[in-house]
Amino acid sequence: MLKKPRVLCVIGTRPEAIKMAPVVLALRARAGLDLVVLKTGQHGELVDTILKGFGVAAHHELRFLERRIPFEDAARKLAESLTGALAAIRPAVVLAQGDTTSVVATALACSLANTPFAHVEAGLRSGSLKAPFPEEANRVVASHLAALHFAPTRAARANLLREGVPEHAIQVTGNTVIDALLMTAEGVDSAPADLDHGRRLILTTVHRRDSFGAPLVGVCRALALLHDRFPDTAIHWPVHPNPNVGPVVERLLGGLPRVLLSRPLDYPAFVAAMKRSTLILTDSGGVQEEAPALGKPVLVLRDETERPEALFHGVARLVGRDPDRIIAETSRLLEDDDAYRRMSKGASPYGDGKAGARIAAAIDEFVRSPEALPAAG
Ligand code: UDP
Repeated sequence: MLKKPRVLCVIGTRPEAIKMAPVVLALRARAGLDLVVLKTGQHGELVDTILKGFGVAAHHELRFLERRIPFEDAARKLAESLTGALAAIRPAVVLAQGDTTSVVATALACSLANTPFAHVEAGLRSGSLKAPFPEEANRVVASHLAALHFAPTRAARANLLREGVPEHAIQVTGNTVIDALLMTAEGVDSAPADLDHGRRLILTTVHRRDSFGAPLVGVCRALALLHDRFPDTAIHWPVHPNPNVGPVVERLLGGLPRVLLSRPLDYPAFVAAMKRSTLILTDSGGVQEEAPALGKPVLVLRDETERPEALFHGVARLVGRDPDRIIAETSRLLEDDDAYRRMSKGASPYGDGKAGARIAAAIDEFVRSPEALPAAG
């Protein structure tokens, strides 16, 4: 009997677990493929919980813990481990999603092993290698090394074309985060948080390297003032485990009566919190994509974004990390019903929930005849 072509999915962090789960499920449904899932260990427990929630189990795990080694060494060390894993697994094609150290290391290891690399969520660009750092550089490098580019939107495809990626190697699929969101949102109710009592809820997350230090302090100061100004409002912040975040947030917001600082939520609980929220303040990429699909206004705590589609639809705004600006923009949404309505009209510029199936179909086609790359979307 002929051996089935082996497809390797590499997953490093929480957002990769969420965004790769629909791809893994769609690949698994294709009987002609031998699917292998590998965790790099960049995020440990967070990834396990998410994958379990989607009924996905990893076949391999690298013993790689980023926190124990300097950030500058992480990509190189991980690429070394992945090179060994590729030699053992011998996949026909490798998929990884997004812009993390795990992704850039996977792209590099594939290039060295002469194994085709397929990039999921390809073509996002902020235009600055410094912000977000190091994600923008990771994306650019991954694009240069990829054989297949699954672009979530037409704007992402245009970025790739501008950089010289051949048209036939790009397919516009939608973002797989919308698949994950739709799979999850139906099953969860928007149960009130502990501090609810019918209050309006501001949901906040911050985790980016370029938010650490003074910008994070600015966000906390703004939230403290908003807490005092709007007594009918509560704040829920599931705090990212990065050690640069927790102590600062705890010190500046910990004692306030209507602020709930929790551990990171599992995905269904976080989706429930988004559904329950009045508005969302975040520096997260994935949350910027999910909030509009749930009809929640999102104020982006950054000066730039590689996800401009929601800005064009008027359902997201860039507010930076300056406390005065955050206070003004949040107050406007809490005080002005028309402004709130305009931003909560609901839009899903990032996908229709079928991205995973499109990617699996393209991969199936590719492994059967790799010389015939999938047609452009
Ligand atoms: N998320 C979650 N639990 C939380 C906070 C976020 O499941 O407590 C999800 C969120 O819905 C989104 C993803 O994690 O899908 C975003 O991850 P993160 O903000 O860490 O990374 P980014 O998207 O910025 O790369």
